[in-house]
Amino acid sequence: IVSYKDVHKSFGDVHVLKGINLDIYPSEKIAIIGPSGSGKTTIIRMLMTLEEPSEGDIIVDGENLWKMEKGNGEMVRASDKHLHGIRDDIGMVFQHFNLFPHKTILNNCVMPLTSVRKMPKNEAIELSKEMLSRVGLGDKLDMYPSSLSGGQKQRVAMARALVMKPKIMLFDEVTSALDPELVGEVLEVIRDLARTEEMAMVMVTHEMDFALEIADRVLFLDGGKIAESGSASEVIEHSENPRLQDFLKRFR
Ligand code: ATP
Repeated sequence: IVSYKDVHKSFGDVHVLKGINLDIYPSEKIAIIGPSGSGKTTIIRMLMTLEEPSEGDIIVDGENLWKMEKGNGEMVRASDKHLHGIRDDIGMVFQHFNLFPHKTILNNCVMPLTSVRKMPKNEAIELSKEMLSRVGLGDKLDMYPSSLSGGQKQRVAMARALVMKPKIMLFDEVTSALDPELVGEVLEVIRDLARTEEMAMVMVTHEMDFALEIADRVLFLDGGKIAESGSASEVIEHSENPRLQDFLKRFR
C-alpha cells in the first residue's frame, strides 16, 4: 500500500535519512525502533506530507505522493486532487494529542467527518460515538479535552483518526508523553486495533515488549538506514547486530 524508494532527508547539513527503501503491505503491523534522532518520526511525517523528502519517491496506493524529477532532481508532491485521495487513506496519532481544546470530545471526532468528508451530521455522530466507545470513552462524550487525563486524550486522538477509516494508521511515540501509569491503557487500545482491524499500522515506539507482541515486522533504524528488518522475534530477540543489542539494552 506504501512504497518508499531510496528516500533521503536532510535538515540543513544534517543528512538524517540516507536511502530508505520500504514496502508496507495492506493490514501489515510494523514497529519502527531506533536511537533518538535516527529519523523514525521523519519517516512517517513524510507520509503525512508534514515533511518533504530531499530525494526519492514515496508511492501510496499506486499514486506518487512524492516524486523526484529525473532531470533536475526536484521534489514534486502529488497534485491537490490526488493529495486528497491519498490523505483520506492515512491517519496519524501524534505524541502530543493535538485535540481541539474548545470542542467536546464527541465534536473532536465529528468535525473532521462533517467538514472534510462532508458526512451528514447524524451519521458522523453515530460513527464517532461508536469509535469513542471502542476506545473506552463512550461515557465521556460531552467532556472537554482539558478535563481528561493524558491517556484519555490520547484515546480520543485515536478515535478521531479511526472515524476516518484510514487504510494505514501511523502512531508516533504515542505513549512517550504519558505518565507511566497511563501507558498501559493506550497500548491496550492499540493492541485491540492490531488484533481486530484490517488497516496497516506503523508504530514508532520504544515499547519493545509491545512491539514483540503485536508487530508483524520490526525495523531498526540506525545511521540513516534501515539497519535491520525482520519478524519481531528475529529483530528484538535474536539479532546479532551489536548496535541493535546495545540499543535494546537501554530499552528492555
Ligand atoms: P526521537 O526518538 O528522539 O523522537 P527520531 O528517531 O524520531 O527521534 P526524528 O524526530 O525523525 O528522530 O529526527 C531526526 C533528526 O532530524 C534529529 O536529529 C532532529 O533534530 C532532526 N530534525 C527533525 N525535524 C527537524 C526540523 N524540522 N528541522 C531541523 N532538524 C530536524
